[in-house]
Amino acid sequence: MFGKMMHQSLLISNLIEHAAKYHADTSIISREVNGQITTSNWLQVQQNCKRLANAFTTFDLEAGDRLATIAWNNHRHLETWYAVSGSGYVCHTINPRLFPEQLIFIINDAQDKAIFFDSTFLPLILAIQGKVPTVERFICLSSRDDKIVEALPDVLFYDELIQHQSTEFNWPQFSEETPSSLCYTSGTTGNPKGVLYSHRSTLLHTMATCFPDSLSLSANDIVMPVVPMFHVNAWSVPYATAMVGSTIVLPGPNLDGDSLVDLIDNYKVTIALGVPTIWQGLLVAAKKRGTTLDSMTRNVVGGAACPPSIIRDFKNNYNCDTIHAWGMSETSPLGTANQPKAKHAALSEEEFEKLRLTQGRPPFGVELRIVDGSSTTALPNDGHTQGNLQIRGPWIVDHYFNQEKSALTADGWFDTGDIATIDADGYMTICDRAKDLIKSGGEWISSVELENIAVGHPEVRMAAAIAARHPKWDERPILIAVKQENSAVTEDEIRSYFKDKIASWQIPDAVIFVDALPVNGTGKIVKAELRTQFGDVLINSKTVESV
Ligand code: ADP
Repeated sequence: MFGKMMHQSLLISNLIEHAAKYHADTSIISREVNGQITTSNWLQVQQNCKRLANAFTTFDLEAGDRLATIAWNNHRHLETWYAVSGSGYVCHTINPRLFPEQLIFIINDAQDKAIFFDSTFLPLILAIQGKVPTVERFICLSSRDDKIVEALPDVLFYDELIQHQSTEFNWPQFSEETPSSLCYTSGTTGNPKGVLYSHRSTLLHTMATCFPDSLSLSANDIVMPVVPMFHVNAWSVPYATAMVGSTIVLPGPNLDGDSLVDLIDNYKVTIALGVPTIWQGLLVAAKKRGTTLDSMTRNVVGGAACPPSIIRDFKNNYNCDTIHAWGMSETSPLGTANQPKAKHAALSEEEFEKLRLTQGRPPFGVELRIVDGSSTTALPNDGHTQGNLQIRGPWIVDHYFNQEKSALTADGWFDTGDIATIDADGYMTICDRAKDLIKSGGEWISSVELENIAVGHPEVRMAAAIAARHPKWDERPILIAVKQENSAVTEDEIRSYFKDKIASWQIPDAVIFVDALPVNGTGKIVKAELRTQFGDVLINSKTVESV
C-alpha cells in the first residue's frame, strides 16, 4: 500500500465541536416553555453539552443505553441531544402528543433509563411514572421548581445537574456505526415501530440535507425548525445548523401562526421548516398582520403533500421559494427535495410551476424505484406510471428496533407504503399513501389530488378527502373541510369548483364542514379518525345518489 487517508469516524460529537470552534458566537435563539426568549451561542451549547456529559458519568450508564426526551424545540433539549449521542448513548425523542398507553409502550420497548422532560409535560410524566420500570431518573429541563418537587419528589433539574460540572470533557471515540438516536413512527397501523439511527447515517444524511439542491443551508442562514425535534429529529436541522454554522431559532411550544410570524420578523429567519398545517396557520396570520416576511427566502414543507395554493401564496405574496420535500422516519427523513435544474430555466411559467409541485428528486445517497405490488421489477420512470415507492441508501432503515425480521424486500429495498410516479430526471410525485387511496368501482382516486383542489378554493382553509363506504361503488370520495373565518361557502359551491379540474366521477359525493380537522402529534391530519367518524355517511344518508 503506497498511501492512505486519515481514518476518522463520523460522529455526532464532531458536529458540536465544529460549531463551537468555528461558529462560537453564532446565536441560538430559544423560546422557553414560560414564553421567555433566551439567546446563547454554539460555544455555550457545546459547554453545556460537556457539563451534562460529565454529569452522566455519575448515572451508572452503559454505552448504548437509551435516554429519552419529551420536550419542545428549545436550547436545553438541543444540549441534551448532543450530550446523549456524543457520550455514546442513544437519544430517544418521544412525541408528547401520543396517548399515555402509546408512550408507555414506547418507553418500555426502548427500555429508557432516564427521561428529560419540559415542565409542561409534568402531567404526562405523573400519568406514566409507575408503569415504566426501566426509567431510573426523571430530569426536568428547567431550573429548580418546588411545585414540581412536590408532585415528583425524586425529580432532578437540568440546570442544577449541570451547574457545577466542568466544561472539559473528551468525547469518547467509537465506531461510526454505533446507534445515536431512536424515533418511533406514529403507529397509525399497529404499535409504533422504532427506527434506530447511527452516527454514520446521521452525518451522511445531514450532509445531504445541507446540499444546495436539498435545503442549501449555510452560515448565512437563520433557520427555524418548526418541525419538532421528536418528529424525525426535526428533519436533521439541529445537526445541519451545527454542520454549517447557521443561527437556529427554536420556537418552543408556541407553533401558532402569530407566534411564528413574530419570531420570523424579530429574528430575521431566512428559512423555516414545517408540515403543511403549520404553513396554513402561518399564512393566515401573516396576511392578517400585513407582514411581508421579508427575511424569508425559502421554506421547507414535508411530512404530507403540500397543496399548490401554499406554494403559490408564498411565492406570489412573500417572494419565498417553497422547497417541497418528502421523507419518513424510516428514511432519516430526507428522501427527495424539490429544486430545479439549470435546464428548467427554459420551461414556461406553467410547466415550471408544475415541476415545483412534485416532491422533488433524490440527493446522492438515495435511490428510488416504483414497482407493481409485490413484484421486484421496476416500472418505467416516465412521469405517469404509478407504482409502490421503494427506497434504499445509507440512511434508510434496515431493521426496526428490537425486531429480528428485516424491514426490507427480499432484494434489499424498503417499501414506503406510498404510491408514486417518477420522471426521467428522478422527480417523484406522491399520488397517495396506499392506505388513503379511494377505490371507487375498481378505479383509484387520489385523496391528495382532491385535497389540493379543495384548498385552492379561496374560502377553504383545510380539507381532507377520505373514502366513505358506498353500497354500489364500494367506496366514494367525500371531503371534510374547514371554512375560512366568516365564510358562508356551501357544499354545492365546493362541488362545482371541482368540475373543470377533475373527471366528474372523481368529484366528492359530499362535502362536510367541520370546525377543525383532527391532527396528530406531528401536525398531520388523522384520516383514520375521519374515516371512523364519517365513513358511513353515504350509507346512512338517503339523499346521496349513486353516481
Ligand atoms: P407517519 O408514517 O407516522 O406519518 P412519517 O412522518 O414517517 O410518520 O410519515 C411518512 C409519510 O408521510 C410518508 O410515507 C408519506 O406518505 C407522507 N409524506 C411525507 N412527506 C410528504 C410529501 N412531501 N408529500 C406527500 N406525502 C408525504
